[in-house]
Amino acid sequence: MSDLSKEARRTLADQSQIRSIKPVDVRTSSDGTEKYLFRLADGESVESVLMFEPGRATLCVSSQVGCAMGCRFCRTASLGFRRNLEAHEIVEQALYARGRLLPDSDITNIVLMGMGEPFENFGNVREALFRLTSPDYVGLSKRHVTVSTSGNADGIRSLGQTGPDVNLAVSLNATTDEVRSEIMPINRKFPISELMRACREFPLKPYRRITFEYVMLRGVNDTEADARRLIGLIKGLPSKVNLIPFNPFPGARFERPVDADVERFQSILAAGGVSAPIRKSKGRDIAAACGQLKAEKDMPPMS
Ligand code: SF4
Repeated sequence: MSDLSKEARRTLADQSQIRSIKPVDVRTSSDGTEKYLFRLADGESVESVLMFEPGRATLCVSSQVGCAMGCRFCRTASLGFRRNLEAHEIVEQALYARGRLLPDSDITNIVLMGMGEPFENFGNVREALFRLTSPDYVGLSKRHVTVSTSGNADGIRSLGQTGPDVNLAVSLNATTDEVRSEIMPINRKFPISELMRACREFPLKPYRRITFEYVMLRGVNDTEADARRLIGLIKGLPSKVNLIPFNPFPGARFERPVDADVERFQSILAAGGVSAPIRKSKGRDIAAACGQLKAEKDMPPMS
């Protein structure tokens, strides 16, 4: 706006923001986790979650309103798919969260792991990734931005070929096609062998690893045989596994495994040379799991 004086431009930059998404519910958990529900210009809504660890502030952002993937363990799936987010609507989630932090702190990591399957909205997600990592926009390091997919092998290839070199996470959650197709319908289109091929072809930068998310469902995917098959699936691939004991929500048909079973699974992986931290649930008292807050606002509790 070069027709304004420099001073007027500086004042505008300091004191004003132009946003199309509006926070309508902000919750803070006893563990410090913050959850935001945003209303979009057309009345739709999405969520983001900001989680804190020593030296880290990780923001989990949404890429779609709702989701069409239908993963059986996911609250967002029950909301159905409404629409793709525009690139600016993805970036604005980060700008809002950044604005809530103290002046001398900043978001350190962003994960596209909120509502939606990022590769079903690849064009806008790709543009958002460029803006999140460009020094002219949000300016995060590409090493600190992660796209998480439910297993879209075509999307993994497209990101590898045309996206910025951000990190890749894959929500794996099963070690046989039979179980995976049952809990994640996308597996019928991209079975495990096809998914793993795309992962092995993904152009990883030196010292980078693919993260495999593994939501543990009691009696479904948490056996010793699963742990052994998992070791075989990722053998030789620079990777790590995040074990996520299922976080039940009203109406969910799965149960959380007991801690001893999670630890047994982890120790089998460790003996097979696989690093697999158990991810602690953050913000359980504020419905911080993906889709929970929107579901609570939009829908009556599931029976
Ligand atoms: S887990 Fe992710 S991809 Fe699957 S239904 Fe939920 S939001 Fe969609």
